[in-house]
Amino acid sequence: MPESPQRIAILGATGSIGGSALEVIAASLGRLQAVGLTAHSRLAELVEQAKHFRPAWIVGTDETASRAFDWAGIPPACVVKQGMDAVIDAVASPDVDVVLAAIVGSAGLHATWAALAAGKTVALANKETLVMAGGLVTALARRTGATIVPVDSEHSAVWQALQAGRRAEVRRIVLTASGGPFLRHSCEQLSNVTVEEALAHPTWTMGRKITVDSATMMNKALEIIEARWLFDLDVDQIGVVIHPQSLIHGLVEFVDGSIVAQMSCPDMRLPIQYALNYPERREQVSTPFDWSRATSLTLEPPDEERFPALRLGREAARVGGTAGAVLNAANEAAVAGFLEGELRFNEIVPACERVLGHHDFDPNPTLDDLIRLDRWAREEVVRWACA
Ligand code: NDP
Ligand code: MG
Repeated sequence: MPESPQRIAILGATGSIGGSALEVIAASLGRLQAVGLTAHSRLAELVEQAKHFRPAWIVGTDETASRAFDWAGIPPACVVKQGMDAVIDAVASPDVDVVLAAIVGSAGLHATWAALAAGKTVALANKETLVMAGGLVTALARRTGATIVPVDSEHSAVWQALQAGRRAEVRRIVLTASGGPFLRHSCEQLSNVTVEEALAHPTWTMGRKITVDSATMMNKALEIIEARWLFDLDVDQIGVVIHPQSLIHGLVEFVDGSIVAQMSCPDMRLPIQYALNYPERREQVSTPFDWSRATSLTLEPPDEERFPALRLGREAARVGGTAGAVLNAANEAAVAGFLEGELRFNEIVPACERVLGHHDFDPNPTLDDLIRLDRWAREEVVRWACA
């Protein structure tokens, strides 16, 4: 009997990760099936995806836009739903095996939470969920037996490398960072960079928010917090190294000094494919490595004077509690402000630091506390920007 396909719900199907995931599904020879897709603003693109992939349901998460949209053209068997509550219902359905959480920002939290509460396997690209509520999210997964599989390339790499030894044999993990477009910029140069320059990443093509995060290195700060929760490590066991070629994605150093690294061309289709097929490896869908060319790999420590976001990430990972949610929300608001021309590039991290330093820290928050603080931190950034 042919094996039945893994039925995948893609939250954020119209994004960079969502699009790559659909390419992985298209190349899977029927082993993977898209049963549900969501989009927020790009509804015409969602219709095209529905025509091609024939999911059972699609959701326009911006309820007002979705109700106003003309959905003519979607296949007759495809059910159209509106709003985040519809996603929360749909991910818990018995017809879904794996939920790919690829909505950007804290907007992805509720649907990811619902999938974990229903005991699903969650392929997690939406790192902000773990940054915001890692303690509660991992406890929920333990309670329901849900599995969180990393999609973020560094965490996928570490996860793969961890398979070379036992948990107690791990000394540290190291996340690589390309350094982004401003790796060699002076502090003065960093004060004058434009939105266009910040969006021109040297090695990865991604959504706008994570591309700006890569340029400030806040992305790596968020990834430290993500790794702390995913792998249950002490923050001092999580290192960061600059690797501009983006070929090594993550490393694990074991107690005997052995370092095991995962390498591949910078192409998100590989970690997505691994997450959706885990524990199987499938035929390559991603860019092949060119073994005929001489290749240099360089590793260097990050400069935290010019990129202070890393320090904030480590601090938030160390203290836990409400710090991750506040840092994440402040960063989302500051990045939005930068993209809209209201904040300068080199004000993003100071805005986050200020809001983090001024918040009412709680070591044991509830989910409602975190959601309230998320809102507060965004308002604080706007106040700070207008002051
Ligand atoms: P994109 O901006 O390309 O896509 C975001 C997706 O989320 C889109 O489908 C968008 O819908 C949807 N969306 C946006 N706002 C909302 C909202 N308020 N409610 C519901 N859905 C919404 O982002 P990426 O694909 O780059 O990133 C997605 C996640 O994956 C992020 O958490 C990022 O950190 C993580 N990630 C991304 C990587 C990458 O290579 N891109 C690498 C590692 C992690 P629409 O477009 O229709 O408005
Ligand atoms: Mg990453």
